[in-house]
Amino acid sequence: MFAPRSNERAGPGGEDTSRFPSSYYAATSGPPIDAPALDGDGVSDFCVIGGGFAGLGAALALARMGRTVRLVEMGPIGWGASGRNGGQVHVGWHQEQPWLEQKLGLETARQMWRAALEARDHLDTLIALDPDACDYRQGLVHADHRAGNVIATHAHVAMMRDRYGYDSLTLVSRDEMRATIASDDYHGGSFDARGGHLHPLKLAQAMARAAQAAGAVVHAQTRCLALKQAADGWHVTTPNGTIRAGQVLDATGAYARALVPQGDARVLPINNYIATTAPLDPARATGLIRNGAAVSDGRYVVYYFRVTPDHRLLFGGGESYGLGMPHDIAATVRPHMLRIFPQLADVAISHAWGGTLAISPNRLPFVIEPRPGLFALNGFSGVGVVLAPWLGRAIGQAMAGAVNSGYDLLRRLPSPRFPGGPWLRWPTQALAMQFMALRDRI
Ligand SMILES: Cc1cc2nc3c(=O)[nH]c(=O)nc-3n(C[C@H](O)[C@H](O)[C@H](O)COP(=O)(O)OP(=O)(O)OC[C@H]3O[C@@H](n4cnc5c(N)ncnc54)[C@H](O)[C@@H]3O)c2cc1C
Repeated sequence: MFAPRSNERAGPGGEDTSRFPSSYYAATSGPPIDAPALDGDGVSDFCVIGGGFAGLGAALALARMGRTVRLVEMGPIGWGASGRNGGQVHVGWHQEQPWLEQKLGLETARQMWRAALEARDHLDTLIALDPDACDYRQGLVHADHRAGNVIATHAHVAMMRDRYGYDSLTLVSRDEMRATIASDDYHGGSFDARGGHLHPLKLAQAMARAAQAAGAVVHAQTRCLALKQAADGWHVTTPNGTIRAGQVLDATGAYARALVPQGDARVLPINNYIATTAPLDPARATGLIRNGAAVSDGRYVVYYFRVTPDHRLLFGGGESYGLGMPHDIAATVRPHMLRIFPQLADVAISHAWGGTLAISPNRLPFVIEPRPGLFALNGFSGVGVVLAPWLGRAIGQAMAGAVNSGYDLLRRLPSPRFPGGPWLRWPTQALAMQFMALRDRI
């Protein structure tokens, strides 16, 4: 057995892939799941690269269809965005329905809404794999940080009810908002009863265990170094063995690097940061968000927060656009948290971590098939908790030849590249986003 090269244990931003970042999720989810690294060559019908929600959704679907499938993940399962995110269960796509109607037409927008609801129902079936572990709580508040946005929120709630028949979304008045969230920052908003929050790493682990139970072979700590098409199928090269597979899915998210360049060209990695407080007195914690829901606001760089079952505030805020994380992530998030909850100035931060999400130019996920038998699914643009497992399943089923409405829909959506090519897409897009983020401070 040869030793891995030194950079084989480092993520794209230099992060250590041999273990989880020191997140609240890693601290509360028990040991990583048992998924021995590949040691020797293997053969399977399918190989999935990436052990996040998208890859796990595909591997689970393929195994349940009785196909042989191997999944390789360079860290522990859930090492990437799926095991680090805010855990917010958002119903719908990154773009709201009026945007989808305008850009893609009414019929496609309607199909996308139906798909979003199907994805939400699918998440319930995944939570049911291990309901206690996933820590699911119902409800998502969208909070308006500008008084001027409240009218638009009123119109949005009415439009979703009248045009889409969606009555899980209700208005929250300024007084109700103040009674719900112990912050002066918000002027009103809406409440989605189909939204919620959960422990994302435990969900990823539950999906991996279910895939293993259905027959998938899952290899953690196994980085795909190269991908090559040969006469006998695709060769997925890893440090200690090669997997030969008929078809391959690249589900490497924002951590994708040079395996499928056509996929890389369509995503921009963005770092986003989260911190949790030390456990609070239960009454103090409940008083922060009185209905126990998750909250996300209307800032361009969104603030999102919720109270964990062990009475911490989990707060997401701040982002950056290059490789590498800030040295002191707690110090990065804390000012954002105190802007919303200044009353927590005396509270210590227990965990702080960053994650990298993959945004696409139109903020919609995409699937591409650049060569026969090679698929890439990516670009969830910050709303992958609901959509990534479902679209992963859809792609898995389609790769195995099953008719699939999710796959058909996704294939029809535009999947533009970022202008500027592999290198210039970074500075140009980062500048544009920094400009938008500036508006949050005005
Ligand atoms: C800080 C943060 C907060 C977020 N909050 C929310 C939220 O509240 N709600 C929401 O809906 N979405 C949220 N998101 C987005 C959501 O987490 C993602 O959309 C979703 O997890 C994407 O899943 P994925 O499977 O595509 O990618 P990932 O989960 O990143 O999985 C890709 C995996 O591929 C692996 N990999 C990469 N290269 C290789 C290789 N060469 N060989 C082997 N393995 C490899 C990586 O290690 C990684 O584990 C957030 C994201 C971040 C970063």
